[in-house]
Amino acid sequence: MEENFNNLIKELKKCKICKDRFGFVPHPVVLGNINSKIVQISQAPSATVHKTLKPFTDQSGKKLKYEWYKITDEEFYNPNNFYITSLSHCYPGKDKKGNDKTPPKICYDKRIKKELNYINNKLYIIIGAKAAKVLFPNENYNDLIFKNNYINNKLTIVLPHPSPLNIKWFKDHPEFMEKRIIEVRKIINKILNEKN
Ligand code: SF4
Repeated sequence: MEENFNNLIKELKKCKICKDRFGFVPHPVVLGNINSKIVQISQAPSATVHKTLKPFTDQSGKKLKYEWYKITDEEFYNPNNFYITSLSHCYPGKDKKGNDKTPPKICYDKRIKKELNYINNKLYIIIGAKAAKVLFPNENYNDLIFKNNYINNKLTIVLPHPSPLNIKWFKDHPEFMEKRIIEVRKIINKILNEKN
């Protein structure tokens, strides 16, 4: 089982299927192992991560790791703690308006679903509206953020995107920073302190 999973990840890291669609060589970014305690799924790596090849090494990552989770890089990048993946494993480039392009559906359908089948995680964290829409197509995004949810009977937290550009959502929802993130942090810390 573990060997199959490792082969899947090796193959994924070599994937270049979207080269023509993106107009540049894709760099798949994924980190974790079959026993990671927390599976975190976001939209796609940023332009910065496309260069560093390490997830969340950008402004969004700083907020997520240090202000929301309040954990160190050592804890976040420990593959026994977090399996870090996204709907698009690669940075997809910008659209005409300068926004990151939508994640290619092929990546989620052909790659992520397979990965997730192997992992013995205890918690899912879904980041951002696009990832939430794919995983919970029939639910209201804001409702998902303020309650506990479940995927495959496992506890699932949905978070807003920590991007510095996401200013309006935080202005409209002060209760996220006042209350919800404190509950989420407690859940994460409890799971990180549990033995596998
Ligand atoms: S986004 Fe996914 S499917 Fe496309 S090249 Fe990257 S890993 Fe392959």
